[in-house]
Amino acid sequence: MSYTIVIAGRPNVGKSSLYNRLTGTDEAIVDPTAGVTRDRKYGVGEWTGKSFVVVDTGGIADEGVDVFEKEINFQVNMAMEEASVVLFVVDGKEGLTRGDEDIAKRLRKLKCKVFVVCNKVDTSDKEIWVNEFYQLGLGDTIFPISAVNGYGTGDLMEVIAKDIPDEEEDENKLTRVAIVGRPNVGKSSMLNALTDSKRSIVSDQAGTTRDSVDMVYKAFGKELILVDTAGLRRGKDYSDDLEFYGSIRTIKAIRTSDVCLLLIDAVEGLTRGDLAIFREITEANKGVVLLVNKWDLVEKDHKSVDAYTKVLKDKLQPFSDIPIFFTSNITRQRVLKALARALEVAENRKRRIPTSELNEIMLPLIENNPPPVYKGKDIKIKFITQLPTKSPAIAFFCNTPQYVKDPYMRFLENKLRDNWDFSGIPVRLYFRQK
Ligand code: GDP
Ligand code: GDP
Repeated sequence: MSYTIVIAGRPNVGKSSLYNRLTGTDEAIVDPTAGVTRDRKYGVGEWTGKSFVVVDTGGIADEGVDVFEKEINFQVNMAMEEASVVLFVVDGKEGLTRGDEDIAKRLRKLKCKVFVVCNKVDTSDKEIWVNEFYQLGLGDTIFPISAVNGYGTGDLMEVIAKDIPDEEEDENKLTRVAIVGRPNVGKSSMLNALTDSKRSIVSDQAGTTRDSVDMVYKAFGKELILVDTAGLRRGKDYSDDLEFYGSIRTIKAIRTSDVCLLLIDAVEGLTRGDLAIFREITEANKGVVLLVNKWDLVEKDHKSVDAYTKVLKDKLQPFSDIPIFFTSNITRQRVLKALARALEVAENRKRRIPTSELNEIMLPLIENNPPPVYKGKDIKIKFITQLPTKSPAIAFFCNTPQYVKDPYMRFLENKLRDNWDFSGIPVRLYFRQK
């Protein structure tokens, strides 16, 4: 499971600001006017090497009847479905309000942990009301913080981090393959095609399939786990938020996977939404195999595959060393092949190159094609080693690491890929002083 922090609370208490602090971004729109409509936000944060998903639940326009009720419902549902811990943000400057009490009443019924976070404790201002929030009946610890200047957030994260399990180190654990993609690209159908069961309900409407389920699957004489991201149970009134739920499921599935089958719609081509998911995968340093699905719907001639592949690779630059399959769930073309390839990609991710081999092959290539002189200085790469990380990372030790620029990094990455199979795997390069 991917550890998930859900941030709840009334409008304007500082949920977005806290989200920004925990994820290290300033992308959520923080607006001083209460309840301005905004996009709901989710992202990934890290604390002392442990990573987690953060969900900011705010964002319904504060007008009309029942808006508050709608907002609470959403927050509580989100907490119920997705949260490992809920941070219930209250406003220490304003003090306890009826709204806080209403939300607390609902949050008290949850099974997961809920921490009360008293925000805006950032001034020497004496008018800060921390103690009265004990009345909310949500435990003995209230965390005074300032989302804006960071006060107290370290203490809060320290407590949370204790609950975040270490990632499984077991070398023999089953490979986890996540089927990801935008709504309606054919994820559930593919799961059906693979498992031949009627357990996953396929539907024409975007995102209306059942809960995500891990499925142990036997293929090619091996067992693996299929992590499905399909949307939600039917019949619940999440209609406004299906996409949001889907996105969070996607990010969680990616984080818990070793390799992702990224499905796109052959008719639509690679969209911005597809690229956003692709970026989530590479940022998480997971393996990826691209499936151009619904290939049965495309009229083709003998050039189609090559032409299509070229367009895709151009759009995926600079990381385009990726297996691509043209699949169909109707004809079942290449679906199994793609899965088999995903298992190979998962093996590529575990590749460890002996230091001697790395230096013997790479140093002569570097000598023949050294980094361009920068500011009159020769750049000398002297020693190369693979770091002991889960996904491949290569360290180049040199005299002036800061002078190695992008084009040369790409040259080095290409040479690595020419000599060792890292297909489908992001490879990180580090340049260090020696
Ligand atoms: P949300 O509606 O709960 O997401 O609240 P926002 O994060 O949008 O913040 C609402 C307002 O409170 C904005 O004007 C923020 O600048 C302000 N705010 C948020 N956190 C703090 C804080 O720690 N200290 C102070 N003084 N203001 C804050
Ligand atoms: P999901 O939202 O990604 O899980 O997508 P679904 O599996 O629910 O599929 C959405 C729609 O696309 C359904 O109507 C499927 O029948 C259809 N579909 C899925 N895969 C294919 C395919 O390979 N070819 C064609 N022609 N239709 C497909």
